[in-house]
Amino acid sequence: MTLLRLLLAALLLLTGQALAAAGAEPFAIAGQSVAPGTRADLRIAVAAGVDGETFIPVSVIHGDEPGPVLAMVAGVHGFEFASILAAESLAERVDPAQLKGTLVIVRIANIPGFEGRSPNVNPVDRKNLNRVFPGDPAGTQTQRIADLIAREVVARSTFLMDVHSGDGAEFLEAFVGAYGGPLATDFPLALAVARGFGFPNIVRYSMETQAQIDSGRSLNRQGVAMGKPTILVEIGQNGSREEAHVAGIVAGVENALVILGMADDPLPEVAAPARLFEGTASVSASHDGVYHPVDARPRRIMKGEVLGIIRDYAGREVERLVSPVDGYALYGITGPPVEAGDAVVTIAIPTKGF
Ligand SMILES: [Zn+2]
Repeated sequence: MTLLRLLLAALLLLTGQALAAAGAEPFAIAGQSVAPGTRADLRIAVAAGVDGETFIPVSVIHGDEPGPVLAMVAGVHGFEFASILAAESLAERVDPAQLKGTLVIVRIANIPGFEGRSPNVNPVDRKNLNRVFPGDPAGTQTQRIADLIAREVVARSTFLMDVHSGDGAEFLEAFVGAYGGPLATDFPLALAVARGFGFPNIVRYSMETQAQIDSGRSLNRQGVAMGKPTILVEIGQNGSREEAHVAGIVAGVENALVILGMADDPLPEVAAPARLFEGTASVSASHDGVYHPVDARPRRIMKGEVLGIIRDYAGREVERLVSPVDGYALYGITGPPVEAGDAVVTIAIPTKGF
């Protein structure tokens, strides 16, 4: 009896040590520790600060074996529902027992924007979370959210996916942006993961200057600043929640797990992109008022083409927006509301290859 117990104990100890040697370490995030082979659903608390507390819901799927840390962030814009529903689906689908490395899913980065059904901004402080990185722990609520996502999520990742889906009063054609150029990290890997989504458009954003990274810094540029291979995923428009868009994001992330070596499944065949672009040019409004687009849809655009007019609140035309380049209108606002400084149309610049 005693001998048997001793033998069993020795066996357990040996097995445990062998597992520990081959397996992953616990994953630390937000003051918590997630054991290998398990999943944790947690909340990163955003302290009350100057304008009230909130939280960031995160699911961590931590594999048995060590590997990359893929951070998938949804809901930076709380009205972009396809990304949020895809995050929810992925958290259920990915099995920690089958995973090498760690998938960190930020289910909704901007809970106040989501609950407030607010396009573009957090209704608490009227800031756009995608313009305030790296954030500020002593700032307003949006800045505090950004600070926590940068420190708790981006800093712990080895690859960043910033997932959006076309905000309210926004048109958009599905694309993936991959960050390249001298100030970005591992463009070939970012491009491979981008292609894995099978979306019709891929944009390379070449990071040439620090100003490009710093001015109104988005989450994806925070990834670049922290040296992470980074992509921007966009599918859906006008706050849509189409099942096909949700499924497109889910498939792209699952393919990324294969491409990054985190899953052993074969990579399914995906469509090659119809169009490749080298950067974008934005046409911005100089007036507040009522925007009348000529055609608020994704399409080819010629240099000098009139994109739309802005009328003031007395109905007088105050501005005529014209394309500065030949390219492809990838996304933009549908109007009618427009504010001075808004990027009305973002035109991607075609390229034959990268
Ligand atoms: Zn967005």
